[in-house]
Amino acid sequence: MARTSRFPGFYKVSVDERRALIADATGTDARDIARSLDGGGLDGETADKFVENVLGTYGLPYGVALNVRVNGHDYVVPMVVEEPSVVAAASNAAKMIREGGGFIAEMDPPLMAAQVQLTGVRNRPAAMQRVLEAREELLALADQAIVGLLERGGGSRAVEVRMLGTDDDAMLVVHVLVDCRDAMGANLVNGVAERVAPRLAELTGGRVGLRILSNLCDRRCVRVHCHVPASALATDAMDGSSVIDGIVNASRFAELDPYRAATHNKGIMNGVDAVTIATGNDWRAVEAGAHAFAARTGHYSPLATWRRSQHDVLVGRLELPMALGTVGGTLRVHPAARLSLQLLGVTSAQDLAAVAASVGLASNLAAVRALATDGIQRGHMALHARSVAVAAGATGDEVERVATAIVEARDITLDGARRALSALLAPRSDRSLPRFEGVDEP
Ligand code: NAD
Repeated sequence: MARTSRFPGFYKVSVDERRALIADATGTDARDIARSLDGGGLDGETADKFVENVLGTYGLPYGVALNVRVNGHDYVVPMVVEEPSVVAAASNAAKMIREGGGFIAEMDPPLMAAQVQLTGVRNRPAAMQRVLEAREELLALADQAIVGLLERGGGSRAVEVRMLGTDDDAMLVVHVLVDCRDAMGANLVNGVAERVAPRLAELTGGRVGLRILSNLCDRRCVRVHCHVPASALATDAMDGSSVIDGIVNASRFAELDPYRAATHNKGIMNGVDAVTIATGNDWRAVEAGAHAFAARTGHYSPLATWRRSQHDVLVGRLELPMALGTVGGTLRVHPAARLSLQLLGVTSAQDLAAVAASVGLASNLAAVRALATDGIQRGHMALHARSVAVAAGATGDEVERVATAIVEARDITLDGARRALSALLAPRSDRSLPRFEGVDEP
């Protein structure tokens, strides 16, 4: 049976009911969801094996983006993020995009580059030539470091040489491109860099410097585009065609101004990072790659752009490098990361990258649409109000009631929430409000 990611009213039901719905739709045992997520998805003993000097674990909310359809397949997409409105915004925008047929994604092969730096090379053009002529020998040497990967259809694929610097800091940098299949690949590629380095020193007559992967994995990009009908974008106050104008205007602003592009890209990474973290992947690597790619022309640019097509349709396009794995690292050991991959039902790292990028494009659409219509604060602060209510001491159903009261009073502050909670508790004498010291206003 084809999966669905449409669950109208999902946000209105209890956590247990949501788990049951998702278990049913993804063929997962609801008890597995509970086992994997209760207690924060990671026990202290396992955490102690991951990193050093462990004192405990640090929890973050685990939600799912709905309505996501990529290349004709529906995905329930796990997102781990602390910021209110990110999951709701991605789900809402994915619903609009769905009305235009969903996301169309195209993935490069999973190629990562091992970099070997060589200094003190006398005749760099001649040395470069020798390295290129030894290509087959170098690829065979590289493959010796990744025998397991070879068995899975991966392996080293190409050798490239670049000349950097002049005079005192002149260097040769050799790249070995490695097909990492379903692994993120950092450890694999670092192994390759270390394996080929001594032979490169012989070939070039230089000294080996650094040997490590590059996180600017621009051979491992994902390109996603979508078509959104104007009717799906309309708000109570604006028709869809005017919203398209506003979104195109927002895109042009980001294309012209790095100050705006940084915030535009942050909105994309809201979605990308949340999926990256939920699936146990290295979000620092994804972030580093995304921003280096955004600056590749020398002008920091938006990763996604928006245009009007001939008809009343908005077209969005996103391109970014995406080094994600479905094996390797710690992701198969982390119970919540394992659960995420199961809920997604992706069969390869490339499919996972397509989904993460699609959620990034949805997050971007949600942000630029809000900016082009009501402004970002209205929706954002309404969702933020719940955190403020909790900070003011509200519990259980008080949270929703206090949040509603401060949104209606247009006073989404800690003081406002404390006043609303006092008013709510006034008839009851058995609860006193907690004292707060040093809590920032939102
Ligand atoms: P890894 O060392 O676990 O290697 C992947 C393993 O999975 C290999 O042994 C491979 O043979 C095996 N494998 C099984 N099935 C496979 C399949 N279908 N496709 C590919 N491989 C398969 O992990 P990695 O991906 O090489 O490295 C990722 C880790 O490296 C992450 O934890 C990351 O945080 C860390 N890291 C990152 C950087 C960086 O980004 N700069 C630097 C160092 C380490």
